[in-house]
Amino acid sequence: MDILFCTSEAYPLVKTGGLADVSASLPRALAKPGNDVRLVLPAYPEAVERAGELTTVARLGLEGADGVVEILQGRFPDSEVTLYLVDSPQHFRRRGNPYLQADGRDWPDNAERFALFARAIVAIARGALDSGWQPELVHCNDWQTGLVAPLLRSHTPRPAVLFTIHNLAYQGLFPRQTFTRLGLPATLWSMDGLEFHDQLSFLKGGLVFADWLSTVSPTYAREICTPAFGCGLDGLLKHRSDRLSGILNGMDCVEWNPSTDPFLERNYTVRTLQHKADNKAALQAETGLHADRGRLLLGFIGRLVEQKAIDLVLEALDSLFEHPFQLVVLGSGERRFETRLRHAAERFPGQLAVHIGYDEGLAHRIEAGADCLLMPSRYEPCGLNQLYSLRYGTVPIVHRTGGLADSVVDHTEETAADYTATGFVFEQDTSAAMLEACLRALSCFESSRVDWWKLVITGMRQDFCWASSAARYLDLYIHVCNLVRAEMLEVEQPLRQLNV
Ligand code: ADP
Repeated sequence: MDILFCTSEAYPLVKTGGLADVSASLPRALAKPGNDVRLVLPAYPEAVERAGELTTVARLGLEGADGVVEILQGRFPDSEVTLYLVDSPQHFRRRGNPYLQADGRDWPDNAERFALFARAIVAIARGALDSGWQPELVHCNDWQTGLVAPLLRSHTPRPAVLFTIHNLAYQGLFPRQTFTRLGLPATLWSMDGLEFHDQLSFLKGGLVFADWLSTVSPTYAREICTPAFGCGLDGLLKHRSDRLSGILNGMDCVEWNPSTDPFLERNYTVRTLQHKADNKAALQAETGLHADRGRLLLGFIGRLVEQKAIDLVLEALDSLFEHPFQLVVLGSGERRFETRLRHAAERFPGQLAVHIGYDEGLAHRIEAGADCLLMPSRYEPCGLNQLYSLRYGTVPIVHRTGGLADSVVDHTEETAADYTATGFVFEQDTSAAMLEACLRALSCFESSRVDWWKLVITGMRQDFCWASSAARYLDLYIHVCNLVRAEMLEVEQPLRQLNV
């Protein structure tokens, strides 16, 4: 198949979050004989520098650009994937975060920037490259590519469009005047189009006009059709639920492999699990926790925001430390949570270690050295840390939501007996429910060592590498292409009979 994968970030060219990881791994995993996968991204300065050799393969005149927009072609690092960078200096030649200015506020022209990006994608999809290459399917991701589907819709023939939601909370909302300024077709301004409570929603472009929708776990796909998780778009998503799939993200199994991980004190496999204890001792020493093998060491890694429910962890600390637990927290985010965590660390020396900041190496050492990974997220479209922790033999304790529900099997009498349990799952997003799950983990850890090792080993044997998720995407691509072809024939056939 010929696939154009459209994204506003892809590691290692540019990264702000999980989308960059998916955009790096999925096209690579899809690029097998028989598939021509090409990735398109804005030409941010860092992306241009890191991409290596580039040549200009199209010069486009696009609405919204003062000068010519060049499409630069290269190869996506360590892959067979062709890379296109949309070079519009006025829009993208800015350093740093692709969406935010240095002071943390959005770029004031984000709507113009990603409208231009969408117009470039539409041009490529319609054969504007010098080579004339055209994809059969355009895979769009998140609001930054939301205008592709509505702008492509009016052209026939056209490629099929799949739109993937990585986090429904980010919608690309702009004032009504922006809609007029962007010169979008007036017919798109309606409740059945891009309007969302009198604002312009880029995300709705994808949700309304794409041929098919997907999100990054089956449970999140169901959840976003409900008012509790739908961010005001649940009605629309429910209406489109017959064309909404959930495919769990894969993980990078080369980067995250306990047998080769260069960040660890000691590498280990399922056969040399005894060496995991050395990583626990090293982590306790590194983070200033008491050296004590008998305490259950919990790890928390992630953005310190409400979504990740770090407030529930803070609420539970007093009760938690009445029991033989230790906790190491690595994260950064909202100032109020960072401050509360720092204060808490002073109250519980040797029991609670807090590291504010982003530290790739420490994230790996926590995954290897902790006994359990705590992920109480209120909602979690997919989540990666629980996948890493399973592979590292670190038992996840998670809230039953989104990708957490789809990747962790709760430890019960039955699941322990049939060797399917991989972690501890709690139902309510309260600190009491989270604490109760932690105590269940502690009881298993202290009193039933065979059960504990069974849990650890079952987790390590799960396969969440990209190959299986990529195969599901490919099946979906084929299905969507066939559907769109059939729909186009249905439209064209009567016209031909009428000699139109
Ligand atoms: P999200 O994309 O919502 O932030 P995910 O669990 O899907 O959450 O992915 C987060 C990724 O970022 C993981 O690879 C995780 O290890 C990493 N990460 C998050 N915070 C930190 C941090 N402070 N230091 C190092 N890595 C972090």
